[in-house]
Amino acid sequence: MKKFPLVFLAVLLTFILSACSNDKPDTEKKYGIVIHGGAGSIVPGRYSSEQEEEFEKKLAEALEAGYEILENGGSSLDAVEAAVIILEDSPYFNAGKGAVFTASGINELDAAIMNGENLQAGAVAGLHHIKNPISLARAVMEKSEHVMMISDGAEQFAEQNGFELIDPEYFFVQERWDSLQKILQREKESSKNNGEEKFGTVGAVALDKNGNLAAATSTGGMTNKKFGRVGDVPIIGAGTYANNKTCAVSATGQGEYFIRLNVAHDISALMEYNNISLVDAANDVIHNKLENLGGTGGVIAIDKNGKIAMPFNTPGMFRGYKLNNENPVVLLFKEQ
Ligand code: ASP
Repeated sequence: MKKFPLVFLAVLLTFILSACSNDKPDTEKKYGIVIHGGAGSIVPGRYSSEQEEEFEKKLAEALEAGYEILENGGSSLDAVEAAVIILEDSPYFNAGKGAVFTASGINELDAAIMNGENLQAGAVAGLHHIKNPISLARAVMEKSEHVMMISDGAEQFAEQNGFELIDPEYFFVQERWDSLQKILQREKESSKNNGEEKFGTVGAVALDKNGNLAAATSTGGMTNKKFGRVGDVPIIGAGTYANNKTCAVSATGQGEYFIRLNVAHDISALMEYNNISLVDAANDVIHNKLENLGGTGGVIAIDKNGKIAMPFNTPGMFRGYKLNNENPVVLLFKEQ
C-alpha cells in the first residue's frame, strides 16, 4: 500500500523533469519566413474589399513560395529572394513592377540581400532597367567582390551576368503616376508633402532548417524623390541586415530616418550587446528611437530561434508570416 504513492511520485517527477529538460518545442528545428509589403497610412476603408483581397492574396503567395523552399530544406537566402520576386512582379507594391515615380517622372529601384551565416551582402541602387533588383543584389553578393553597385555600373554588371535589361516602360503603373501628380500638386500648394503616403516597399526575412538567417528588401524608394536619392533599403544595416548570432531584419518607412538610426543593425546590436529579446530590441528601435526622431515606418524580423517581431508606428503595415507548419498569417492594419 505504502509503495503506491512513492512509485506514483517517482513517475510524476520523471515526467516533469523530462518535460522540462526536453523543452520539446525548442529542440525541434524551427524555421519560417516573415514578409512585408510596406507600412504607411493603411487604415480600414482606404482600399475596397476587392483590393484588400488582392493584397492579401499576393502576400500569401509570396509567403507560401518562401516557406515551401524552407520546408524542403532550402536556404533562407533562396526563400527571401523567391518571396521578394513575387512581390516585385506585382503592381501592388512599391518595388519592381509597382515602383513609385521620382520627381523627374522615372523609376529608380534599390534592393539589398544579406546572408546571416557569413555576413555577406549585396546591394544595388538607382536601377532603371532591371525587372527583379533583388536578384541583381544577390548576384552582386555572390558574383562580385563588392557589396554595393549603383546605376549604370550596376546595370553593366547585370548585363555581363546574363540579366535582361528591360524597357523602363515596364514600370509604368497608372496609380503610381497619379500619386506623383498628386504630390507635385500638393507641393505647389503648400511646399510640403503631408506624409499620407503608403511606403509599399517589400521585404522578407527567414530562418532555415540549418539555422541560417537571411534578409531581403526591394523598393522604388519614395514618390517624388529627388535626383540620385538613395534610401535605407540598399544600405546594409539601415533597411536590411542579417546575422546568425542575432536576427534578420527588413525595414520599410522614411528611409532617411532608417539610415540615420541604422535601424536594422541597431536591432541586431541591441540583442547582441544587451542580451535582450528580438521583440524588446525591435520595439525599442521603432517605438522609441525612430519615433523620438520623428520617423515613421516599421520592420519585420526573425531571430535565430524563430521568434518574430513586426513593430511599426504607422496606421498599418502589410505583413505576414508562416512558421513551423503553422497556418500562414497575413495582416494589413494595426488592429486585426
Ligand atoms: N524605405 C524606403 C525608402 O526610403 C521607402 C519604403 O519603405 O517604401 O526608400
